[in-house]
Amino acid sequence: PRRHGSDSAELQEKTLVLVKPDAVQRRLVGDVIKRFERRGFKLVGMKLLQANHGILDKHYHQLRQKPFYPSLLAYMTSGPLVAMVWEGYNVVRSTRAMVGDTNSAEAKPGTIRGDFSMHVSRNVVHASDSVEMAHKEIGFWFHSDELVAWECSDRDYTYGP
Ligand code: UDP
Repeated sequence: PRRHGSDSAELQEKTLVLVKPDAVQRRLVGDVIKRFERRGFKLVGMKLLQANHGILDKHYHQLRQKPFYPSLLAYMTSGPLVAMVWEGYNVVRSTRAMVGDTNSAEAKPGTIRGDFSMHVSRNVVHASDSVEMAHKEIGFWFHSDELVAWECSDRDYTYGP
């Protein structure tokens, strides 16, 4: 018997990743995508867009009272960003581990922030920090018809039969 049906919920966990404006300007989009592809996650949504204050106020709702919030808004609206939805087993926690510490200066080598950035205010990527937040955040950035359900041809070699 198969351990995972193709409709298995645990293989369909999703997370939101934003490739932030600094990374787009520095032409790091491909490097970021490559890490998630190589790990084995499945890309199910992606777009380049210019964020506005409306969507960022929702996305960063919990940070609106922080002293750095105005500069965070300026940063996140300074140029286009790439919004992506990645899917797979344990993708929320795995992606947070791959992204590394919020403060790039403390982020470990081998993490995206640790390899590509120097400072908390220009930390290259966002990744949802829980399954619940991922669900909410995906809803802020994507319409349901912008997500594509598809089967990876190497699935059994990624997860086992
Ligand atoms: N941020 C900042 N200064 C700080 C803390 C956070 O500019 O002292 C920015 C940074 O871009 C960070 C974002 O605010 O990624 C959201 O902060 P959060 O604590 O949610 O960290 P994350 O989930 O992105 O690691």
